[in-house]
Amino acid sequence: MQTVLIAGGAGFIGSNLTKTLLDQGDTVWIIDNLITGRKKNIEQYLNHDRLHFIEGDITNPTALEPLQTVPFTIIFHLASPASPIQYANHPEETLLASSTGTRHLLQLARKTKARLVYASTSEVYGDPLEHPQKETYWGNVNSFGPRSCYDEAKRFGEALCYTYIHRDAVNVKIARIFNTYGPNMEQNDGRVVSNFITQALTGKPITIYGDGKQTRSFCFVDDMVAGLMALSQTKEIETTIFNLGNPHERTMLDIAQQVLALTGSQSTIVHKDKPVDDPSRRKPDITRAKTILKWEPNVHLEDGLKKTIAYFKKEVNL
Ligand code: UDP
Repeated sequence: MQTVLIAGGAGFIGSNLTKTLLDQGDTVWIIDNLITGRKKNIEQYLNHDRLHFIEGDITNPTALEPLQTVPFTIIFHLASPASPIQYANHPEETLLASSTGTRHLLQLARKTKARLVYASTSEVYGDPLEHPQKETYWGNVNSFGPRSCYDEAKRFGEALCYTYIHRDAVNVKIARIFNTYGPNMEQNDGRVVSNFITQALTGKPITIYGDGKQTRSFCFVDDMVAGLMALSQTKEIETTIFNLGNPHERTMLDIAQQVLALTGSQSTIVHKDKPVDDPSRRKPDITRAKTILKWEPNVHLEDGLKKTIAYFKKEVNL
């Protein structure tokens, strides 16, 4: 049985991870400042005898004080706004969560001798010129634009991890997480899957940004949690960074059509301006995760979308 800290455990991926860890008998500590995470996501576990919840901010050393003497084996750093609308609404908090916040969690990992799993992002590749993206690609990133508070903070966090690994021998693994969807997504997070499902279920027009030919590759959250678990347990020493995502690439037009078909919605499609610096293609090369972690996603988009639509219908009363 492990003692695990999840920074950002009330968020979309963090709350799904919490469930898996509690189900397998682990003790879970969550620290979350709830700026984008929601207590509702973990409500059912708040009275669980193996769940400890701290409402606090990882950038604030005082909030981390109660954690300093806990014998953690794994620390997951999932604490950051992560959708373009969320980080646009909280740009400074986003910058600090992956810089100061990562520093504090690295220090905690050094002290407790825990492995830190740092949630990085496919955004470190920016609008990629290499396709699909391998972990060895350095990216094509704008340091001065609407997405840079997220992209550069995550890149800075990776550089901090490098420093603590090489200077202090801290045990760190980095997950570069590609687009993920599923239950506990925030209805108003502005992501394409939550937007399209909400619009389809309420009969509002489906908003495609630009011509809809841009691509993403969508991973169901259960697969992502399995990938993070595999990363937290791997005996691999040499390799630190792993792409986690589903390599099945789709256009936004495809996604819109599929959501319309699965919901039986009569919504129309409207086109809106494409956001600044919106990447035109994105698809992970997951050879490394397949080979070393023996992990690959196995939930088909249609099955994952059906589960996500059911979640939105029930939880959000649509
Ligand atoms: N998008 C869209 N309509 C929406 C929301 C997003 O067409 O209502 C597009 C967006 O421009 C991007 C893609 O869907 O090309 C994925 O956007 P999302 O915000 O989900 O994540 P990103 O991968 O950009 O971080």
